[in-house]
Amino acid sequence: MNDRKTLVFDIEKFAVHDGPGIRTVVFLKGCPLRCIWCHNPESQSFEPEQMASADGTSPPETVGRPMTVEEVMASVRRDKAFYDNSGGGLTVSGGEPLAHFAFTRDLLAAAKAEGIHTAVETSGFAPRERIESLLPLVDLWLWDVKAPPSLHEKLVGCPAESILDNLAFIAARGAAIVLRCPLVPNVNDGDEALGHIAHLAESTPGIQRIDIEPYHPLGEGKCRRLGRSEAFSAPFASDADKARWLDALHRLTSRPVHL
Ligand code: SF4
Repeated sequence: MNDRKTLVFDIEKFAVHDGPGIRTVVFLKGCPLRCIWCHNPESQSFEPEQMASADGTSPPETVGRPMTVEEVMASVRRDKAFYDNSGGGLTVSGGEPLAHFAFTRDLLAAAKAEGIHTAVETSGFAPRERIESLLPLVDLWLWDVKAPPSLHEKLVGCPAESILDNLAFIAARGAAIVLRCPLVPNVNDGDEALGHIAHLAESTPGIQRIDIEPYHPLGEGKCRRLGRSEAFSAPFASDADKARWLDALHRLTSRPVHL
């Protein structure tokens, strides 16, 4: 029996935005990156954290619960009938699932063994060997495109090159891929950024679609609740921002774009 545990900070049931059909999304706590706009700052640390309640009056909650693969699977398999009826399944997200490599591998293998569709949402920042060994276990890669190479290190905390190489690697091996693009007005949504997304979509085989994820400022309040002194702040993306993104991407690529 595998009693390896990793920190899980949420299990979302009946999710419909993280892969096809009705899904269970398992969020693993810990990420090596530091996107300045991170909407889930409680997912960054690999340690449990105390987070003040949203209303400021209830006791703080502990974020991060150590769980085994079997404990997670007990929750995941409960909804198998919904997955089967909707074409859904399991999505492993984070934080960064590839930073929890052994756990993610074992969880995906357990789901596959039970005939459950698998997706991984990742920044793609991980050693090539990890990605290669997950290829047979992942039915769909939800691959983040966070910034063009010229801005990547400044906004995300690492250079883009190894991530782009990893994307080309899985594409060359026939992986099914959705590009997930968090867009923050006036931060990573300029012509260069939109052109980069479109170029990747056009030049990479296996891209099913582009998902745009408009910025929302939920992370700002969470940073304060975690006791952090600095928090990124920007307004919600406007309708005009979204229209401009869609217009540019529709002009630059024939891949489907979802907002
Ligand atoms: S990769 Fe995701 S979890 Fe990690 S810092 Fe960026 S937005 Fe946050």
